[in-house]
Amino acid sequence: MNSNQDTTARRPNGIWRLGDILREGTLFLSSRQIENPRLDAERLLCKVMGKRRIDLYLCHDQPVSPAERAGFKNLLLRRASREPLQYILGETEFMSLPFRLSPHVLIPRPETEILVEMVLNLVPVREAVSILDIGTGSGCIAVSLAFYLPRSGITAVDISRSALDIAAENAVLNGVQERIRFQILDIRSPESPPEFESGFRFIVSNPPYISQPEWETLAPEIKNHEPGIALYAGADGLSLHRLVAEKSFDWLQAGGMLILEVGLGQADPAGEILRKKGYRSVASRKDLAGVERIVSGIR
Ligand code: GLN
Repeated sequence: MNSNQDTTARRPNGIWRLGDILREGTLFLSSRQIENPRLDAERLLCKVMGKRRIDLYLCHDQPVSPAERAGFKNLLLRRASREPLQYILGETEFMSLPFRLSPHVLIPRPETEILVEMVLNLVPVREAVSILDIGTGSGCIAVSLAFYLPRSGITAVDISRSALDIAAENAVLNGVQERIRFQILDIRSPESPPEFESGFRFIVSNPPYISQPEWETLAPEIKNHEPGIALYAGADGLSLHRLVAEKSFDWLQAGGMLILEVGLGQADPAGEILRKKGYRSVASRKDLAGVERIVSGIR
């Protein structure tokens, strides 16, 4: 995509077509070692052209204006600098629902869907259940629970105002804003979330869990672009799990359940934290890659 690579000279009539620039973009991302060059180029081109992926093929002969080509080039350069595709697009999908994103929030991961599905398997659809989501970020957990449990009442807290703004936007996008209460809360402060006196049936959280040694090994997409505050969690990556387990003990109803996402190798130590605090029936659950990803316990 720099001037040396510009192949305009090979096109005497100067007309660029969708198929041409898609090919160019794919080659460019591939030359920059981007993992899925074709898919990423397609998604970026769709954004520039306001098209669906299928349209790229149906309209591959459609001429592209210089402004559109420049817009595409600009997005390709951002992706080549390792900005995650989802931030460039400004959106993603989680639990088959649309979510807006900004660099203030973590990109929802498919592993986290296991946590949501676990709650959905435990609660009958029509039940009016109260749930607290700690560190809601994009709101992916809170919003999808509210969507699939239409009588649930959810409290979603985060330390970051910018994250809560995105989460609230996502609640509106998915039509569940009436049933989620968003509140700024620093879990390290002595404050409690609203409505904690009656006790939550479930407390769910995907807290930051990257340890100091693991931090160094992260892909540039993550380390340089996703919010450190949503990722980094001290020497062993469990500092937030300790806090959440501690606080949640007071905020859960008797018989209520705490469900936490953990990183690779953290299920045993996290389970130990829960047991020591007094949680019963501590258990873990694997994700699709076979990693023990979710740890739960009953108050
Ligand atoms: N709850 C959000 C998610 O699961 C944010 C998690 C975080 O920022 N650590 O994606």
